[in-house]
Amino acid sequence: MAENINLSFSHKVKEELALQFGNARHCQIAELAAYLNMCGEIACFCENFCLKIHTENFYVAKKCFTLLQNTFNIRLDISVHSSGKKRHSYLLLLRDTQQIRRVLQACGIHYDVKTCQMEHSISALVTGSICCRRAYLRGAFLAVGSVNDPNKNYHLEFVMQTARLAEQLREMMYSFSLEAKIVPRKEHFVVYLKEGEQIVDLLNVMGAHVALMELENVRIVKEMRNDINRKVNCETANLNKVVGAAVKQLEDISYIQQTIGLHKLSPQLQELAEVRLQYPDKSLKELGMLLSEPVGKSGVNHRLRKISGIAETLREGKGEAE
Ligand SMILES: [Zn+2]
Repeated sequence: MAENINLSFSHKVKEELALQFGNARHCQIAELAAYLNMCGEIACFCENFCLKIHTENFYVAKKCFTLLQNTFNIRLDISVHSSGKKRHSYLLLLRDTQQIRRVLQACGIHYDVKTCQMEHSISALVTGSICCRRAYLRGAFLAVGSVNDPNKNYHLEFVMQTARLAEQLREMMYSFSLEAKIVPRKEHFVVYLKEGEQIVDLLNVMGAHVALMELENVRIVKEMRNDINRKVNCETANLNKVVGAAVKQLEDISYIQQTIGLHKLSPQLQELAEVRLQYPDKSLKELGMLLSEPVGKSGVNHRLRKISGIAETLREGKGEAE
């Protein structure tokens, strides 16, 4: 499909994660708990209450549907609402009070029937095992996560509803040695990673291996490019220095030639000045070897500095005369 080429990296990750299911019931419940924490709420009407799962992500709706069916044998209808162009939202509604109790209890989510409030927090029991934490992170990413195109910059984030959920998710990531940070954004709390390596690790934890390979390839190319740029910059800087020095030497020599003439220099300096004029782009070492009595690089440097000093003195003298 032509459309696939234009998919954002974030979308690709989600597409891949949408196909992953934990084999064990505990992992499936952990993932379901993530969806309920991120997208679930309880609504009450006339002593009855219902559980709503609301999302704009089709994968999340589909996953909730499948997970509820697999783990609790509950079949729900998904209703689709479209708001504006291409934007859909999906709603799953669970009305049976007994079933709601079972689901929330299994997912370790407390609720208050009187106030109709669901306590959005991560249950330590439900996410006790590594496998379940992986499943939870996968669910959380599908529901509220996004990742930038690695060609642009490294940034992965989860947009959490409450500071508490954000902190709990950060701790969960820390159990995989992922050091996420939290920043408030409007009325939300963003848990984010900024380092390429950490993002790769998280993709691995969640099981997005295809996306992981893609990101690694980008990282390798980027690193090589940085390496080459560093070398080129370094070489250019050196070359500029060499060229800059040679230009200055030629200016000094020409100035002496035009004012007092090169024959006024000592024979050693005169010879070097003439050789320099003849070979403007030779290195100091090469210049030294072209002399009738060859000298090394430092010898050449020493003589050139003398020439430069003479030119300076001449310039100053001229300045005073004027
Ligand atoms: Zn598990």
